[in-house]
Amino acid sequence: MTQLLRVDAVDFSHICVGGQWRPGAGGTRPSIDPTDGSHVADYGIAGIEDVEQAVAMGRAAVADPAWRDLRPHERARILYRIGEAIEAHVDAIAALQTRDTGKTLGETRALALSAAGTFRYVAATLETLDEELTAPRGPWVTMSVHEPIGVVAAITPWNSPIASDAQKVAPALAAGNAVILKPAEWTPLVSLFFARLAYGAGLPEGLLSVLPGPGSIVGDALVRHPGVGKVAFTGGTVTGRRIAAIAGEKLMPVSLELGGKSPTIVLPDADLDEAVAGVLYGVFSSTGQSCIAGSRLFVHESVRDSFVARLVERARALRLGRGDAPGTQMAPMVAHAHRDKVAAMVEGAVAAGAQVLCGGHAPEGEAFADGAWFLPTILTGVANTDPICREEIFGPVLVVLPWRDEEDLVAQANDSEYGLACGIWTRDYKAAWRIARRIEAGTVWINTYKQFSSSTPFGGVKASGMGREKGRRWVQSYMNQKAIYWGMSPEPIGWG
Ligand code: NAP
Repeated sequence: MTQLLRVDAVDFSHICVGGQWRPGAGGTRPSIDPTDGSHVADYGIAGIEDVEQAVAMGRAAVADPAWRDLRPHERARILYRIGEAIEAHVDAIAALQTRDTGKTLGETRALALSAAGTFRYVAATLETLDEELTAPRGPWVTMSVHEPIGVVAAITPWNSPIASDAQKVAPALAAGNAVILKPAEWTPLVSLFFARLAYGAGLPEGLLSVLPGPGSIVGDALVRHPGVGKVAFTGGTVTGRRIAAIAGEKLMPVSLELGGKSPTIVLPDADLDEAVAGVLYGVFSSTGQSCIAGSRLFVHESVRDSFVARLVERARALRLGRGDAPGTQMAPMVAHAHRDKVAAMVEGAVAAGAQVLCGGHAPEGEAFADGAWFLPTILTGVANTDPICREEIFGPVLVVLPWRDEEDLVAQANDSEYGLACGIWTRDYKAAWRIARRIEAGTVWINTYKQFSSSTPFGGVKASGMGREKGRRWVQSYMNQKAIYWGMSPEPIGWG
């Protein structure tokens, strides 16, 4: 039976260096609830000396026979226990994350459950991973085996903390590595809580560190550190490119889950009720703060007016409210600074000629006075080449673009720096197949949107990243592959 840990018993001013809890060398910062600007907790900030020590402890832990020599099923047992611990604390994690990020409780619960599921899936994969005996082309037995990389740095963004943490920590540990997690500055609390759960579940000392702190200092130090053998990054494309450049210098593997500007396509024969609900959910859930937000809507011109009218009516009726209030569909954005950035992008588009069909500003009223709120916003009168259609907004803003023929549709949908996701709404399965195969994206959803499965690889193309998370090869992506040849020839090689 898992011992329950109470959030109010946790001192967030202490960071986790290899399982040791102590004040960070960078002092503390306040975490702010974006619902009303209230103070949630002061959390610890790591410094360079914490990075040094976390790497040293990680390297020692990976080399320790107590971890190194565990059989896969034994390592899996620890991962299962971490998954159970997360699930046992799902309400506590959800409440903490809702305060830290503003998100709805429904969403933060789902993220915590997804993190538990990730640990279970990865543990099961680990237990059932076989190595390969390869076909010999000489007098040998040849095999291909996988080994841990060493110390992995996991750098995560603020929009789905515990789920994106688990998506890196679980496979990295499963592969036999140590992990140093650098959560985003706006949302570090659940990552610190999660580390306590992991150690409480029996993770040996040294294998997990959680180092909150500025990306430009703590994140950068981790990426550059010679003792770090892989960086698993989720975040913006600008940061991703910076990390990739350093990884290139170091010749270090890196996985990059980056931004998006995903097209959602409505064909004239679509079930329009389903499509309206799917488009709304695809762009406005998580208050639009989602890498896969379906933020460019391509509606066939024959149904455009009626479809957009229904969409606007339903967007206006979305329930805005506190993340912890029952029935809330759209909560505040993660931070006031981010809300202001989104507002400025909308203002820029309007100044350039866009028409606002709904939203376009913060909601009015006492309840919204102090928080980082923004209304669901739909813009029309824009061209696919306008900045509002090209740049990732990462907020509740949808642009509507008409299309007439399929060639033009595919060309416009693909005319983007990004290639993360795409949605297609139609009853015509052949058209769906044709378009899905031509769209440059890592994921295509047909008559659904924003759904995930641990067993289905996820990632982007073009500026949306490289590498895949999830799926059967997830654990191996955190390992080095090694070939072993066993000489079986009765004759010497013939040189001596
Ligand atoms: P971000 O600014 O790139 O930050 C992501 C993480 O990188 C944060 O922990 C950040 O720390 C850290 N960081 C910043 N500068 C760094 C540097 N020079 N070296 C190392 N680390 C550094 O992104 P964000 O604003 O937090 O997140 C939003 C972005 O993430 C969006 O573009 C979104 O599309 C993307 N995202 C992608 C996926 C996906 O799966 N493709 C999923 C979710 C989000 P600080 O917080 O301290 O700056």
